[in-house]
Amino acid sequence: MSQNLSSRPSCPFEKIYPSQLEKDKLFYMKLAYNQAIEAWDRGEVPVGAIIVKNEEVIASAYNQTEANADPTAHAEMIAITQACRSIGDWRLTDARLFVTKEPCPMCAGAILSSRLTYVAYGAPDPAMGGLGGAVDVNAMPRANHRTEVDSGLLGEECLALIQSFFKAAREQKASSKST
Ligand SMILES: [Zn+2]
Repeated sequence: MSQNLSSRPSCPFEKIYPSQLEKDKLFYMKLAYNQAIEAWDRGEVPVGAIIVKNEEVIASAYNQTEANADPTAHAEMIAITQACRSIGDWRLTDARLFVTKEPCPMCAGAILSSRLTYVAYGAPDPAMGGLGGAVDVNAMPRANHRTEVDSGLLGEECLALIQSFFKAAREQKASSKST
């Protein structure tokens, strides 16, 4: 039973070619996610950040607000300082930041000042987000630098992490009150 190949209809679907770039983005966001878990294990709000330059991780940090008793000790701020020390330059041109939560206005300002080329964040932050969630620091009309922003990368996982952390904190507070 031979079939005539030329008469067979071709597949109506198009092939999906995996993007190496997309794969890399998710790869780095997963590293940031693991940093966020480090934060949780130390009683910090679980936010993690990674900075990559030339496909090399030059900074990885998590939120240390409680440990340092410092409201500026956000994961992004620590990562930016680390990255600058690592390359010996305050300009992080051509470097990419991956952070599990939308940066606050302070961190968004530091991102622009450091000239980071690209930022990807996981969970949006409608209360304090500085890249469009609450305000958009990246949209200042006369700023001399703008960064490319990707949102929602590993978003569900990053959001679940933060929401679960606050839920657990509330439950702990409630149970310590009742005893
Ligand atoms: Zn921040």
